[in-house]
Amino acid sequence: METPIKTPVRTIPHLIDGAYRLRHDQRMGPVFNPSLGAQSAQVQLGDATDLEAAVASSQAAFKDWSRLNPQRRARVMFNFKALLEAHMDELAEMIAHEHGKVISDAKGDIQRGLEVIEFCCGIPHALKGEFTYGAGPDIDVWSIRQPLGVVAGITPFNFPAMIPMWMFGPAIATGNCFILKPSERDPSAPNRLAELLIEAGAPKGVLNVVHGDKDMVEAICAHPAIRAVSFVGSSDIAHSVYKMCANTGKRVQAMGGAKNHGIIMPDADLDQAVKDIMGAAFGSAGERCMALPVVVAVGDKTADRLREKLVAEIKTLKVGASTDPAAHYGPVVSAAHRQRVSDYVDLGVREGAEIVVDNRDITVEGYENGFFIGPVLFDHVKPHMTTYQEEIFGPVLQIVRADSLEEAVQLASDHPYGNGVAIFTREGRAARDFAMSVQVGMVGINVPIPVPVAYHSFGGWKRSAFGDMNQHGMEGVRFYTQVKTVTARWPEHKAADGETSYIMPQ
Ligand code: NAD
Repeated sequence: METPIKTPVRTIPHLIDGAYRLRHDQRMGPVFNPSLGAQSAQVQLGDATDLEAAVASSQAAFKDWSRLNPQRRARVMFNFKALLEAHMDELAEMIAHEHGKVISDAKGDIQRGLEVIEFCCGIPHALKGEFTYGAGPDIDVWSIRQPLGVVAGITPFNFPAMIPMWMFGPAIATGNCFILKPSERDPSAPNRLAELLIEAGAPKGVLNVVHGDKDMVEAICAHPAIRAVSFVGSSDIAHSVYKMCANTGKRVQAMGGAKNHGIIMPDADLDQAVKDIMGAAFGSAGERCMALPVVVAVGDKTADRLREKLVAEIKTLKVGASTDPAAHYGPVVSAAHRQRVSDYVDLGVREGAEIVVDNRDITVEGYENGFFIGPVLFDHVKPHMTTYQEEIFGPVLQIVRADSLEEAVQLASDHPYGNGVAIFTREGRAARDFAMSVQVGMVGINVPIPVPVAYHSFGGWKRSAFGDMNQHGMEGVRFYTQVKTVTARWPEHKAADGETSYIMPQ
C-alpha cells in the first residue's frame, strides 16, 4: 500500500535579536486558513526560556536605542511607513489567509496601524519637555519624558497589524525596546511587520516577537524586567492581565471586549443609517471591538421602518472567501468560534427574542469547509437577556426598542461594556447632550464606528478597558514614558572672599 506523502507544515518561529528562533522541542499551535477550514501552518508556543532570550536582547538594545536622538528614531519610522506602503498587498494577503477578513478590510487593518506610525514620525515634537526659568533664585526646573526600558504588548487575533502597531509604534519611537506576543491564531503578519521594521533600520532587539498562549502571557506579566504591558483581547483575560501586572508593579493598559450600541432617533436619515449599520454590524464578520451589534431604535415606528430596511439590505450581503473581491465579509476565525456564535443565536431564541433573519447555515461554493456564518437579525431583544449582556463577536445584529432617547442613553450607559456608541440623528442639540452624558469611551455622531484618528487616542470604559491610559496618540506617548523633573541651581560665581551662601527654601 502506498503511504500518502505528507507536506511538512510550515512553522512560524519567534523573531528574537534580529533572527528567527525555531525550537523543535516545544508545543506548536495550529494556524488555519478560515476560508478553506484547513490548517495552513503551525506556530511555536513559546515558554519562559524564549521570553528570557527576548528580554536579554531588548535590554542589550535599550542603552543605545534610548540614547539615540528622537529625530533618528523618527527616521526609522519614516522608512517603516514607506515599507508598509510598499508591502501592503503582501501583508493584506497574509492577514486574509490567517484571519479570514476580506482583502479590502485587511488593507484597512494595515492602514489604521500605518497612521499610528505616521504619528510616530513626529515623535520629537511629542517628547519636548517643560521648562521653568527662574523657579527660585538661580533655579531652573525642567521635566522630561524618558522611556521605561523593556515593555511588552499582547494582541488579539482580530487586528493582527493595527493593534501591534498601536503599541510598538509609540513604544519604540519614544526609545523603549518592545516584546510583542501576537495572537497565536494569525501570527504571520506580526512577524513580517518585525522584519520590515528591522529593514527600516531598527537595530536588533528593539522589536522582538515571541509567540505563545496563556503560558507566555503569564511569563510576560511575571517578568521583573518588563516595565509595562499593553494588552488587547477579551475582558476576562484583560482583567486577569491587569491584576497580574499590578502584582508585579508594572504599568498596564488592558483593553477588553465590547457591545457597542447604535441609537437611531426618529429624525435620523434612515437610509444612510442603515448603510452605516450594515457595514458596522456585519463587516469583518462582526469580529471587531468597534462593531455595532446592537441598534436601539427610539420609538416603535422607527424600529419597524429600520427593521424593514435592514431585512432588505441583509438580502444583498455576500459572504465569501477572504480573497473574493465581491464578498462583503469572510469566514470567522475558527470552527469553535463559529459554533460559539451559533450557540448564542440558539440562546437568543430560547430567551424569547424574535429571530427575523437566520442565514447562519450557508455554504460557499469551492470553500465548503470554511468557517462561514451568514447574517442573523434579532428584534425585541431585552436588556436582561444574556445575548444582550454578552459579546457575541459574530455577524449577529440585535434590535432593542426604546421609548425615548433617555431610555436609549441609559441602556448604553448601564451596559457592562463601554467601548463605543453612536447616535444617528439630525438634531444637533440632542447629539450634543448625548455625547456629554453617555457612559462610554468613544462616541460617534452619525458615525457608526467612531475609532479615533491616530493622533487622538483609543480606549473604552468599564469592562472594555482596565487601566488608566488609552492606546496611541499622546496617551500612548505618556504610557511608554516616565517623567523626570530636574531642579537645577546655578549660583553666580563669587570671587575673592569665596563666600557663597546657602538658603534653605521656606
Ligand atoms: P483573547 O482574549 O482570546 O486573546 C487575546 C490575547 O490573550 C492573545 O494574545 C492570546 O494568546 C492571549 N490569551 C488567550 N487566552 C489566554 C489566557 N487564558 N490567559 C492569558 N492570555 C491568554 O481575544 P481574541 O479572541 O484574540 O480577540 C477578540 C477579543 O478582543 C474580543 O473580545 C474583542 O472585543 C477584543 N478586542 C478589544 C479591543 C479593544 O480595543 N477594546 C480591540 C480588539 C479586540
